Amino acid sequence: MAIVPEGMIADILTREASFDAVEKVFAAMAAGDAYNFPVVREAIGHEDALYGFKGGFDRAGGVLGLKAGGYWPHNLERRGIINHQSTVFLFDPDTGRVKAMVGGNYLTALRTAAASSVSIRHLARKDAKVLGMIGAGHQAKFQLRAAADTHRFEKVIGWNMHPEMLPGLAEVAEEIGLPFEAVDLPGMAEADVIITITSSFAPTLLAEHVSPGTHLACMGTDTKGKQEVEAALLGRATVFCDEVAQSVSIGEAQHAVAAGLIAEGDITQIGAVINGTHAGRTSADEITLFDGTGVGLQDLAVAASIVETALAQGTATVVPL
Ligand code: NAD
Repeated sequence: MAIVPEGMIADILTREASFDAVEKVFAAMAAGDAYNFPVVREAIGHEDALYGFKGGFDRAGGVLGLKAGGYWPHNLERRGIINHQSTVFLFDPDTGRVKAMVGGNYLTALRTAAASSVSIRHLARKDAKVLGMIGAGHQAKFQLRAAADTHRFEKVIGWNMHPEMLPGLAEVAEEIGLPFEAVDLPGMAEADVIITITSSFAPTLLAEHVSPGTHLACMGTDTKGKQEVEAALLGRATVFCDEVAQSVSIGEAQHAVAAGLIAEGDITQIGAVINGTHAGRTSADEITLFDGTGVGLQDLAVAASIVETALAQGTATVVPL
């Protein structure tokens, strides 16, 4: 069994490897070669923690496993460690024997950023120049770096409900070499691509704030009740997602479907675009929207890539079973 602990992941996992792993597994999902298991999420009645499992099987990639973990809201103040904690376990699909244990915290940020980047690669206009960021928390910085890897933007504009967090995002833009400007929400009309990555429970970005031809990657809504954009925007857009079942139940689409603005059948898995079975964007003024809810197979694909690299480098700890 290979062990790659959290502290080693940042040295092993690149954004490029995360992108490749996520793009491949989205394609496998759309081809019917990979599927996610029902998600388990429990309030355990201890430390106010939410704990659960996200698992799946990628027959094409030979990857079986689960990510176990969740949210411990008092970690930072009481113990000085981050509140989101997770670990990935991989199993041999031929025998069921455990293959690997991989730290899941840094991995989660990179696989989430990779998902929006995959959507930008396949759905944004090739002449997109301005990247709009809604949100400036932990994930936003990863999102910005990955988006800049994927597409040559000329400028970043940002809005956050808590404006005092925006300088942190501006710093990342500066590091990448992109000018950054804080804007109000109507100012988002300048963006060609917008990433939303907040923990909002009410829409902030309205349909009137978005220009024709924009691609949106809505990444923050991963729970029932959360919402980042006005449901009417999904009615105006061509909607894509990682997985339809999650999109309509815990993703941004939950609200548009409940309001009758779109139906489940109107939502396309991004993997279909990757595989060429859906055309994706068909005109320069079409609004495309990717509802990225985060599936277990993303975690497993990236974890498998980490294990492969760590074994090749000799940096994984291998213990006998
Ligand atoms: P964070 O706590 O570091 O940052 C939260 C962000 O949301 C900040 O920009 C904050 O200003 C903003 N915010 C907080 N309350 C708001 C409100 N009421 N209205 C508008 N904005 C508000 O969190 P994070 O780690 O950056 O995560 C952001 C979101 O992404 C969370 O909802 C998290 O659950 C989600 N997430 C999604 C995936 C996925 O795969 N889709 C993966 C990881 C995290």
